[in-house]
Amino acid sequence: MMPLLPALQDVSGPAAAREAVRFDEVSLTYAQLTEVTDALAARLAGARRVAVWATPTAGTVVAVVAALRAGVPAVPLNPKTGERELAHIVADSAPSAVLASPDDVLPPALAALERVDVTTTATGPAPAAPSEPDPEAPALVVYTSGTTGPPKGAVLPRRALAASLDALEDAWQWTSEDVLVHALPLFHVHGLILGVLGPLRRGGSVRHLGRFSPEGVARELGAGGTMLFGVPTMYHRLAEALADPDACAGLTKALAGARLLVSGSAALPVHDHERIAAATGRRVIERYGMTETLMNTGVRADGAPRPGTVGPPLRGVELRLVEEDGSPLADAESIGEIQVRGPNLFTGYLNRPDATAAALTGDGWFRTGDMATLDPDGYVRIVGRRATDLIKSGGYKIGAGEIENALLDHPGVREAAVTGEPDADLGERIVAWVVPADPAAPPTADALAGHVAAQLAPHKRPRTVRYLDALPRNDLGKIMKRALHG
Ligand code: ATP
Ligand code: MG
Repeated sequence: MMPLLPALQDVSGPAAAREAVRFDEVSLTYAQLTEVTDALAARLAGARRVAVWATPTAGTVVAVVAALRAGVPAVPLNPKTGERELAHIVADSAPSAVLASPDDVLPPALAALERVDVTTTATGPAPAAPSEPDPEAPALVVYTSGTTGPPKGAVLPRRALAASLDALEDAWQWTSEDVLVHALPLFHVHGLILGVLGPLRRGGSVRHLGRFSPEGVARELGAGGTMLFGVPTMYHRLAEALADPDACAGLTKALAGARLLVSGSAALPVHDHERIAAATGRRVIERYGMTETLMNTGVRADGAPRPGTVGPPLRGVELRLVEEDGSPLADAESIGEIQVRGPNLFTGYLNRPDATAAALTGDGWFRTGDMATLDPDGYVRIVGRRATDLIKSGGYKIGAGEIENALLDHPGVREAAVTGEPDADLGERIVAWVVPADPAAPPTADALAGHVAAQLAPHKRPRTVRYLDALPRNDLGKIMKRALHG
């Protein structure tokens, strides 16, 4: 197997002087990143597992890459995690040390761990080039986003990282010429594996904004950035900025000139997709993945983006829809649960053999818990999660996603989430949680029900509307539906 990060193996080659990563004023070429991670890898050699205090900085890239080069599994930690959850993750993953920048103040949950300082300049005596670890060895332990329950540690081998990144190379014609504009956190798959290891595996560049802003996106795409990876809340903010003539000079041109605008981690509302397309002539492409499986589907760079779809399965990924009991879908056009199989899959949840066994079928299919339909050409249309987004009302199976899209299309609605609640007549009743565009004049429940009935079908109209100031969201902007009722 080819090394995970080949561009770091060949420091005398022509790529050595190319910029690998830039965070504000900290910039590292491939030669510099190789030198600094070689030195840190030598210090980590033999460690059992290390935690990384994953701030959005170049130091986090150095820490993770050094651990990968040393063959020491790394556990990226979200610095905003609450003390209780952090204590759980530390007890669960049992790292032998924590890697952090010298000026990071670490919370009490990490106090008992040995601390290894990471800088972006420190070097040491040139160690022997690290040998490439076994492809099945754990490379990273990444905790899931905790959208549906407490986060679970997914053990990801090098084989899965390589397979998924190479499938994206194939889909997106991703090369060393690409410069990725990035503003995502570095402790999830999206920001760390796709956003950092993706460019590094290709020998390309990453420019991280530290903090997302439409101005930063316009600046970096205007200055040579070729791709943007974002979550739907970012594309929503870009759509808003595009609609406001005073908001952000150059944004329209910068987005129009990008090679690829990619959205993932949650469904991109159709309304935002259409607004961006209308303003820039560019269609955002969606890809669908999970911590446990890395990337499953994605619209290809030379494919046709279609709002509301996440594209066909990526190269090497098998995908099928099944009934609730796991049997083949009776009607090819109906909603089923997505199962996937391929070299992109994790090896299991850390310390959770029962959860691992429950998530996998006997012949290696992963039960995603996501519900979808298939377009005739194999594009996947996710309708939501089995646990929170599939509503059984009046004998129908209804996905929350399409109702949310219909609500977001109403001019009086800024944000929307749809859930089901027990109902004596219907089994479940469709409930809409709405953040009005103008809190002083929210659209009435009747107006919203009429709007959804006209766009979709009468049985998909919400029976109850609840108004909120904001929806509960996690750090990737995912709606935390379990917090809506609680
Ligand atoms: P937890 O598993 O802890 O409840 P989580 O499932 O949100 O949290 P992740 O592994 O980060 O944790 O997210 C994977 C999920 O994100 C997928 O199962 C899917 O529901 C959703 N998702 C990812 N990409 C997309 C997309 N493009 N469209 C719709 N949903 C998506
Ligand atoms: Mg999940």
